[in-house]
Amino acid sequence: MTTYPLARPYITKREYELVKHVLDSRILSLGPIVQKFEAAFAKRIGVRYACAVNSGTSGLHLALLAAGIGRGDEVITSPFSFIASANSVIYTGARPVFVDVDASTGNMNPKKIERAITTKTKAILVVHIFGQPANMKPIMALARRKHLIVIEDACESLDATYHRKKAGTFGQSGVFAFYPNKQMTTGEGGIVVTNSQKIYDSIASLRNQGRDKDMNWLNHRSIGYNYRLDELSAAVGLAQLEKLTFLIRERQKITQWYTQELRQRPDLVTVPAIAPGNTHTWFVYVVRIARAGVPRDAIIKRLGTQGISSKAYLPSIHLFEVYRKMFHSKPGDFPISEDISARSLALPLYLGLTRKDVKFIARTLLTDIEHYGTHVRR
Ligand SMILES: *Cc1c(COP(=O)(O)O)cnc(C)c1O
Repeated sequence: MTTYPLARPYITKREYELVKHVLDSRILSLGPIVQKFEAAFAKRIGVRYACAVNSGTSGLHLALLAAGIGRGDEVITSPFSFIASANSVIYTGARPVFVDVDASTGNMNPKKIERAITTKTKAILVVHIFGQPANMKPIMALARRKHLIVIEDACESLDATYHRKKAGTFGQSGVFAFYPNKQMTTGEGGIVVTNSQKIYDSIASLRNQGRDKDMNWLNHRSIGYNYRLDELSAAVGLAQLEKLTFLIRERQKITQWYTQELRQRPDLVTVPAIAPGNTHTWFVYVVRIARAGVPRDAIIKRLGTQGISSKAYLPSIHLFEVYRKMFHSKPGDFPISEDISARSLALPLYLGLTRKDVKFIARTLLTDIEHYGTHVRR
């Protein structure tokens, strides 16, 4: 039986070559390759500064700290996200305040952001979910009007655009992640982009134990962290960046195949919606089960027995045990996010999937949902 994983990084000779070059150089950290990677990434995104770190999560943490977020502050963010976005707010001592999402895209609803603003609100941590940007025009206008900082979690939306402007370039800073299931990888890794030299300097120091910019051993201006990216990871990142256009085009091609197959049965599944003005770079391909009474988890299990990996994407953060305990959140607090969470599953998406593979996966999914429906009715 052919088996299909959910994700798989695309590695070529070039990654081996650049990693070997680093190993041969004996400079494994604090060397020239991280700097090269940062410069290439900044150029690609069209920003002045990029600061590489050892994960997307540490990037979010430092972006919030550099913005001066801390104890007593509230940061408005999305419950429909990977847990790292909300956790990073908690690391700073601030409180994440969730707002419900748009039903079609799963991105934050600007009207609901406005209603959640209090005297303690200091920032909006916008999450660009699954590979397409949030509705940034009203969000930026609101932030300007209410004097709020905007930080973007663009970890899932590398190179995606909103009216031709890239995700991660709207706010004070934007964060990207390079875990192996993302559009490009460094193994573990992340990067913060900004056009502000002050923010860049602050993040560059904080990732390196709070040390002075000139690496002076004699002075630390704050309690920093070791959030550095190493040279080997940066070498992988450089090789991936060279082919990023190809990586994204392939994802767009494969997801188009999925949509062609699946949109024929809107009674069974809802295919992803792309908002007008957006380009989508497809971190994941997530569909929603449209037929009432078909339990998503049973479908995931059944697909598994047929060699097809799929996964609930994503559980709403406010319903995790730790968030219920800390913030007394409960089912019903964010009904749209919860509804999407209950019905969504991600399908296999990686370079190498053929049209035939996609057809097989899509048809198996449709058959499973249909079969479950008849089974229940009887
Ligand atoms: C991947 C991701 C991150 C960062 O993840 P790391 O594993 O720390 O690199 C943050 N937010 C979202 C929404 C993500 O998908």
